[in-house]
Amino acid sequence: MAALDIVEKLSLLSGAAKYDASCATGEGAGLEKTAGGTAMVYHSFTESGRPVRLLKVLFSNVCRFDCAYCVNRASSGIQRASFTARELAGLCSSLWRKRYIDGFFLSSGVFADPDIVMGKLIETVKLLRKEAGYNGYIHLKIIPGAGEKLIREAGLWADRLSINIELPTDKSLQTLAPQKSGKTILEAMNDFTLVHSAFEEDRRRIRSTPEFAPAGQTTQLIVGASADDDRQIIALSSSLYRKFSLRRVYYSAFMPIHLPGGGGLPDPRLPDIPSPPLAREHRLYQADWLIRFYHFTGGEIFGEGESFLDGNLDPKTAWALRRLDFFPVEVNRACYEELLRVPGIGAKTARIILERRRSHTLDFEGLRRLGVILKRARYFITCSGTFLDRPEDPKRIRRLLSDSVGAGMQLPLFDF
Ligand code: SF4
Repeated sequence: MAALDIVEKLSLLSGAAKYDASCATGEGAGLEKTAGGTAMVYHSFTESGRPVRLLKVLFSNVCRFDCAYCVNRASSGIQRASFTARELAGLCSSLWRKRYIDGFFLSSGVFADPDIVMGKLIETVKLLRKEAGYNGYIHLKIIPGAGEKLIREAGLWADRLSINIELPTDKSLQTLAPQKSGKTILEAMNDFTLVHSAFEEDRRRIRSTPEFAPAGQTTQLIVGASADDDRQIIALSSSLYRKFSLRRVYYSAFMPIHLPGGGGLPDPRLPDIPSPPLAREHRLYQADWLIRFYHFTGGEIFGEGESFLDGNLDPKTAWALRRLDFFPVEVNRACYEELLRVPGIGAKTARIILERRRSHTLDFEGLRRLGVILKRARYFITCSGTFLDRPEDPKRIRRLLSDSVGAGMQLPLFDF
């Protein structure tokens, strides 16, 4: 087969990177092709809400690993290509100078020893920063198995690093990604955390200390490729946030892979599902939000004996209906933590309520003006002792607050 030219490589390897959700982009985030249709540019947002256009690309789609869920796995019959560091740095710099992109996400298949692959990624971003003068955002993938020294170096050039844990249990990793080890991935996260804290500490004392990956580390979990349930996924996420101060865990609904001519796929170890379990992914993001911003623990998001999030109710409402003994919350007296538990009251609104309460007694109309969603909150709050709607019939409330996002989509996901 004839070797690909650089533009063909860019087209192939930017398309191949779309399966990685750990930089908050994906087809859903919006993407377009650059002039000439050569590279996918992914539209996303920074944590502060600033829109960014990312060139998301693999250094190489050659991979020694054989992860069942991945289109680039060793046994798939796809076309392969690799950049050189200089080629890729030049391409990225050119797209950046032409203002097609603001950021760069770089990952790779494991085409050689992990340290060699990681070294190539670092060489690329180093060229980009030092020779091309690129000062845009860089998100760099840590290759599983790469040593601590390389993680340390990578964080000096990149804004964010990520290593994908992909599956929540060792058993699933052994089945679907036998060359990956949960232990190695967690060790890399731990290395990042230690190095990051050491740099932060030094920066407090010595102002000239360089920044180390200021946008922190993230990871991705694939949802629906293995038989692991939501409880296992959320338990893992809570523990990652706690232990490694992860900025984000991204959940990526497993996409059944269909290649023209089969290409060695699909794999019999994977579930036979017609489409990605997006409703489940959505619920996991809602539960994750509760952990990060609403002070919920992973365990209390699930009812006793429940393994999956409710398909018909968002997790906060589902919790509230299980814990009617906690309510009503009197909005003129409740503390911040109590307000956070009320469906229809967000973290920002809870703070505004506390602030406004200092000078006003709040009524329902006032709450509505402050941004409280009374359609949801009405069953769980009182204003000066008065209910808008007494929660006498939980089944009726459940019916009224049900959203249909996940209706009927939780259970039939596994059909091995
Ligand atoms: S390591 Fe696994 S997930 Fe990563 S590119 Fe290789 S096969 Fe795909």
